[in-house]
Amino acid sequence: MTFDSLGLNPAILKAISAKGYNEPSPIQGKAIPEILGGKDVLASAQTGTGKTAGFTLPMLHILAKHQPERRRKIRALILTPTRELAAQIYENVKEYGKFLTIETAVIFGGVNQNPQVRRLRQGVDILIATPGRLLDLKAQNVLSLNSVEFFVLDEADRMLDMGFIHDIKRVVKFIPKDRQTLLFSATFSKEIRALAKAFLVQPIQVEAAPENTAAETVTHIIHPVNRTDKAKLIVTLIKEENWEQVLVFTRTKHKANRIADKLKKSGIAAAAIHGDKSQGARTKALAGFKNGAIRILVATDIAARGLDIPLLPIVINFELPNIPEDYVHRIGRTGRAGASGKAISLVSHDEEEYLKSIEKVLGVKLTRKSIRGFEQSTLEEVQKIEAALQEKHGNSRRPKRSKGNNYKKQFGRKGKTSFKK
Ligand code: AMP
Repeated sequence: MTFDSLGLNPAILKAISAKGYNEPSPIQGKAIPEILGGKDVLASAQTGTGKTAGFTLPMLHILAKHQPERRRKIRALILTPTRELAAQIYENVKEYGKFLTIETAVIFGGVNQNPQVRRLRQGVDILIATPGRLLDLKAQNVLSLNSVEFFVLDEADRMLDMGFIHDIKRVVKFIPKDRQTLLFSATFSKEIRALAKAFLVQPIQVEAAPENTAAETVTHIIHPVNRTDKAKLIVTLIKEENWEQVLVFTRTKHKANRIADKLKKSGIAAAAIHGDKSQGARTKALAGFKNGAIRILVATDIAARGLDIPLLPIVINFELPNIPEDYVHRIGRTGRAGASGKAISLVSHDEEEYLKSIEKVLGVKLTRKSIRGFEQSTLEEVQKIEAALQEKHGNSRRPKRSKGNNYKKQFGRKGKTSFKK
């Protein structure tokens, strides 16, 4: 299949060829004809499959069919869970539409609303928004959604996880019923199907890959390790393997900060990205990572969701996610667009259950590979030492200092710290 054969507007084809895309990705090949045919679409596509162009290209084609009125009205609304994703979609829409006379704006919270208000007052055709800021500005009468004819709910599963369901429902009430609706989600849960039933009319269902299947180009590597040795192991791995750029995932914001600090102290350029960071700090960290100034980006699941970081060879799960589908999202950051990637997970005893759930979702048993000098202690040893540490440090579950092979040291065994492949 070629982009030409999809019958897209020549100005859009020109932009696609400027991007260097040769052919539509599978999700694009399936979704674009349906969207162009005016259908509502329920699409299951993980990040990295080209889903953004999958909805943006036909949306631009449809909008370009009619000249905008002298006073532009919002005709397309793209709702997305995170600020970063909103900014990224905005960049994509601008690029794909650069040879069209279409005005696009993006609004999200965490930054001063005034520039966004000014931009909206100039008139826009396409608005990309996170739910909170959209409702805020709607309540202030800064924008009207009465003319929306094209509505996209991107990363709908994540929106539900983040508790946006009521906001989404409120937004939908402001949009005309006579519209085309697209819902993109990495997974099709019961809740997503219910959402689709409520907002979409006889949707066509398209899937880029079988449900919950990770990209085939990704190699999964599991390193069993003691929890207290993880920080030392990650520094060792990054240094010994000389990886250029790595995205590291943690479960919590606190841990993301700690790991970024630890890496920086070890002389590795690192930054943390999570919901407690200011918008400026997040944008700066992401830009630094994209231009190579930052080597290691440590992120929580929500912050990293949907970030477009091309050709990322390595993703490290410092901690496994407690929601197995998040593992699939995380490793969607590597092995993109046919390139091969590695997903490395540092797994401690307390994460065994998470690992089992992930294996169940992936439908494969992942190979465990210990690293010399960082071998995992037995569960009994871990429990014994945890109890001893707890006694020593009161209620804090964490030892004050975390050195390689802590558990073994406690048991009088010499910890080997050299890393061998
Ligand atoms: P997405 O899944 O939308 O985040 O897109 C993932 C990456 O694939 C982005 O860097 C896009 O620029 C790129 N991409 C999208 N469509 C194509 C295509 N047809 N051919 C090659 N790369 C593409």
